[in-house]
Formats: sequence, structure tokens, C-alpha cells
Amino acid sequence: MFDHASYDNHEDVHLFHDEDSGLRCIIAIHSTALGPSAGGTRMWNYMSGADMFTDALRLSQGMSYKNAMAGIPHGGGKAVIWGNSKTDKSDRLFEAFGRAVESLAGRYYTAEDVGIDPEDIEIAARQTQYAGGLVSKGEGGSGDPSPVTARGVFLGLQAAADLAFGTSDLSNRTIAVQGVGSVGGYLSHYLAEAGAKLYICDMDTDAVQSVAKATGANIVPVDDIYDVDADIFSPNALGAVLNEQTLPRLKVKVVAGGANNQLSTSDMGAKVRDAGILYAPDYVINGGGIINVAGELSGEYSRDWVEQKVQTMVQTLRSVMEESLAGHEPTNLVADRIARARIDAASAS
Ligand code: NAD
Repeated sequence: MFDHASYDNHEDVHLFHDEDSGLRCIIAIHSTALGPSAGGTRMWNYMSGADMFTDALRLSQGMSYKNAMAGIPHGGGKAVIWGNSKTDKSDRLFEAFGRAVESLAGRYYTAEDVGIDPEDIEIAARQTQYAGGLVSKGEGGSGDPSPVTARGVFLGLQAAADLAFGTSDLSNRTIAVQGVGSVGGYLSHYLAEAGAKLYICDMDTDAVQSVAKATGANIVPVDDIYDVDADIFSPNALGAVLNEQTLPRLKVKVVAGGANNQLSTSDMGAKVRDAGILYAPDYVINGGGIINVAGELSGEYSRDWVEQKVQTMVQTLRSVMEESLAGHEPTNLVADRIARARIDAASAS
């Protein structure tokens, strides 16, 4: 375990099994240097326990970097639940998960992620005080993080456009949006309001049609999104979409979207840069959602505080891209270096 390729000095990794509900869950805590760890819960039907373990490690390390770059007082952690999110959910499962989170006594705060709905976290919150993104708290709850994520992505995309084209004005820009679920849907509305010409795709035909109707976007088949003659590509669905197969197909000058883990490998960052594309590192541009959750976890949720943090996050993103453009390092490695320095400085103090 300790020599696993993704272990990266995790502080602790917890395995939970609850026979009664069938819960099998890993909570990985990468770092608490900047504060108690925070990160969403993913429910996924993994092929094996080994795959699940690797995913938990990578995701929690990613949260350390994301939270450090978002400037929030939280370290990185993540929970993964093994199961089919369409068929294996039950109240008992999420109550058992809530007890698992509670047993860590505040070293890890949970929220929603892929496969998890806000309602699932509400059930877990019956058993733990360490959960965020809640609607039931009323004014004190931060609710669905997706609109804030989308706002941060929109502002970050404008900053990237400014650096690549000399203007943040999107009214003459063509943008290809992959995935119009929660984040991509809100983002498409922002982009349409800014006057961009949109091409969108999604496997969910209802979602893609409703967003096209509301925004005037053109629908393209899922497999054709990389070939659109666009200025900007905005991935908001899957990971690993920037890879050896897709990069030669892209005609864009900017990639800026909300999806996590957009580069198939870290080395792709240099290849994207060599192809003349400015890449907004995913975990920097998509930090709006965790900022929103952090606002709730502070106990004094304030929209003004969230907005100010999102603005600062966009400034950080801009300096990462500027540093990359001025030197030889790809944007993803500039971001990794700054994130690690912030965590190391907190560890040392
Ligand atoms: P979502 O499930 O609401 O939306 C994802 C959409 O992508 C769905 O509509 C799905 O049908 C579509 N999709 C799946 N495969 C596709 C494909 N091959 N081509 C086109 N569309 C495809 O999820 P979301 O909350 O909008 O999250 C989207 C991405 O953003 C994920 O990578 C997530 O990890 C990341 N993210 C989300 C948030 C947030 O606040 N929700 C925060 C940070 C990062």
C-alpha cells in the first residue's frame, strides 16, 4: 500500500464495511496541512477493489491541490463508495456512510460528487455533522454547488480568452461544450448570454435538447465535438478527454471547462501547450463548487464571501496561465508546483 504509485504521502486511508447495508467505502485523507480535509463522495461500480483504492488516492490528492489553489482552509480528502448509483442506493447505506464520516471526528468533511445527489448527503447528514452542500440547513446551507462551479468556469474561460485572443469578449467566439449536465448546462447559459456561438453535445438527449432550446446552441453528435471548428473547447463531462487521440483533432486555441482530470496523463499538458493551446488547469478553474461548500462549513455562509473567493480563484488561474506563457512550463505543472508550495508552507508552519 505504501509504495502504491499514487500513495503520495497520504496522511491516512480508511476502509469501511457495513454488513447490514452493504456499504463498502474508502475515505482517503491526503493532507490536513491547510485545515480539515474536504472533498466530495463518489459512488462508482469499480471493476476491482484495487481500482477503487487507486481512484480514492488520486481524487483525495487532487482535492488537496484544488483546495490549496482555491484558498480555502481545507486539506484534501475524498470518499468513494463501491456500488451502482442507479440500483444500489438506500437510506441504510448512506446512514452507514454518515457514521463512517462521523467516526473520523472532523478530519474529513464530505459533500456530493459523481453518482451522488444532494439528497444522499442529506441522509448521511442524519448521522454526521461533517457534511456540506446541504439544502436542509436553509439559509445556512449552500445547496447545489454546480451553479457556482459554472460561474467560476465562465470567469476563468474569459480570462483564458483574454490571454489567448487579447480580449475576454466572447461575442465573436465559437465554443464547443462537451456535456451539458449540471455544470455544462449552467455554463452554456452564461456563454450564450455573453454572445458566444455554441456547439454542444451530450449523451443525454433530453438535456442537450433543452439546453439547445434555451440558448440557441447547435447540437453535434457526441463523437464529433473534438472536430468542431471552434475557438474554445470546454469539457464538462468526463476525465481524460485531452489525450493522444483527441489532441490532433482539436482546432481550438483554448481549453477551459469544469470536468475533473481532463489530461489523460500529466505529460499531455506539455503536448497541449506544444500544439499552441492554452489549457486552464481543471482543478484551478473548477474550484467554485468546493468554495461554496467551504462557505457553508465555516458556519457563516455568505454569498459575498463565496463571490470574493471565486474572483480570487480566477486571479490565481490567470497568474498560472501567464507564468506558463512567459516561460516553458505547461500550465498544469505550474499549478501543481504552486499548490504543493502552498501545502508545504502550511505543513512547515
Ligand atoms: P452531471 O452528471 O450533472 O453532468 C455530466 C453530463 O455529461 C451528463 O449530462 C452526461 O450525460 C454527460 N456526458 C457523459 N459522458 C459524455 C460524453 N462522452 N459526451 C458528452 N456528454 C457526456 O455532472 P456535473 O456535476 O455537471 O459534473 C461535470 C464534470 O464537472 C465532472 O467531471 C465533475 O467531476 C466536474 N465537477 C463538477 C463540479 C460540480 O459542482 N458539480 C465541481 C467540480 C468539478
